[in-house]
Amino acid sequence: MGLVRYLRRKSPWLLHFDTGGCNGCSFEVVATLTPRYDIERFGMLTRGTPRHADILVVTGPITRQCLPRLIRIYEQMPEPKMVIAVGSCPITNGVFDSCYNVVGPLDKHIPVDAYVPGCPPRPEAIIHGLLATLKRWK
Ligand code: SF4
Repeated sequence: MGLVRYLRRKSPWLLHFDTGGCNGCSFEVVATLTPRYDIERFGMLTRGTPRHADILVVTGPITRQCLPRLIRIYEQMPEPKMVIAVGSCPITNGVFDSCYNVVGPLDKHIPVDAYVPGCPPRPEAIIHGLLATLKRWK
């Protein structure tokens, strides 16, 4: 079990969950995955299932409609798991603050390990946040 934990830390798999918003942060997360920024050099890959994911990357405002799905995905991830909030929307509700359907911020509902502010943040900042998350994990 110790070996599995060690390997998960060395090569964490990411799950990107976008709640909506303007999708600006989603594009920056996608840019982070491209060869130009190349997060695979840190052993990071994206996965389409929460059961294989180590780090949940959340973008967009937390809405009443997406919240149950987000919590279900979070609960399906194996322990230990980390969460990173990317962009102003999941951190403070951003420009969607006071909207009738916004129930954020994210850390009101699930524990958040790293925050990457910006609207949207640059890929370099997202990489910095992911590495800070890993450091905290270790
Ligand atoms: S933080 Fe800004 S760029 Fe990102 S989803 Fe919200 S409004 Fe869009």
